[in-house]
Amino acid sequence: MKYVKHVSELIGHTPLIEITSYSLPKGVRIFAKLEYFNPGGSIKDRLGQFLLKRAFDEGKLKEGWTIVEPTAGNTGVGLALAAIQFKVNAIFVTPEKFSLEKQTLMRALGATVVNTPTAFGMQGAIEKAKELLEEIPHSFYPGQFQNFANPDTYYESLGPELYEELDGKIDIFVAGAGSGGTFMGTSRFLKEKLPHIKTVIVEPEGSILNGGEAGSHRTEGIGMEFLPPFIDRDYFDFIHTISDKDAFFRLAEIGRNEGLLIGSSSGAALEACLREAKQAEPGTNIVTIFPDSSERYISSGIYE
Ligand code: PMP
Repeated sequence: MKYVKHVSELIGHTPLIEITSYSLPKGVRIFAKLEYFNPGGSIKDRLGQFLLKRAFDEGKLKEGWTIVEPTAGNTGVGLALAAIQFKVNAIFVTPEKFSLEKQTLMRALGATVVNTPTAFGMQGAIEKAKELLEEIPHSFYPGQFQNFANPDTYYESLGPELYEELDGKIDIFVAGAGSGGTFMGTSRFLKEKLPHIKTVIVEPEGSILNGGEAGSHRTEGIGMEFLPPFIDRDYFDFIHTISDKDAFFRLAEIGRNEGLLIGSSSGAALEACLREAKQAEPGTNIVTIFPDSSERYISSGIYE
């Protein structure tokens, strides 16, 4: 018999798939890690579990305490799962604009969701979370936007998984950035193993990495309004700024052609991979991350 005793054991070791429906230059291949196979449906299950485990190990969090985190949703779902595992309470502060599905899932996992006005962006949610932390005794701030455990999550799990699954044959790593934890941690691991790898970061229009102004975008989960302290621009070998239009076109296309139901940040990552592939030498392996699925965006009109 092969089974697990707790849902937390199902986090990580997600499938890796080769993208095969595009005619790419000869010998160029694209692979994608399907992070929606995590039990909470996104890459952030890894983060929730890692952040709380480290906090427990360092004595900063104890059973029965309350975690408070500003989150666009997937981190909330991941942390809500981890809160069950570690027996703590969870409160999430989420700007109104983010998907109802994600907010409903956080509540379904026993968490409380506090909404802040869309106009105040992620910064507004961060400030509200700080207020709550001052009011609530025995509270802990996982702090995905400042905690170096965020990139460490991916340095210790996603990076090694990709390296092993592709026998170290990776030439270009492409990933979107919201907090930038996925990109930084995975890139740091891969560059240590493969000094010549090209690490490519992906943002939507309305994000600041390529010198643009912070602004609104429909692509959810990626885009930066400020640079977290663990971001090191030396790892940005290239920055792709992808329009909502291109991200949504690609996610619909790959749903029809390959049966992959991916979210908009995955659509942006796919478009960036295709741009890299166009100019790549024969024999180039490109690998990317599909952080979540389209299912949690149906009501926001992802396929319309
Ligand atoms: N895609 C989606 C759907 C996400 O929810 C997130 C996290 N906000 C990301 C990509 C980016 O991950 P990171 O915060 O590690 O940059």
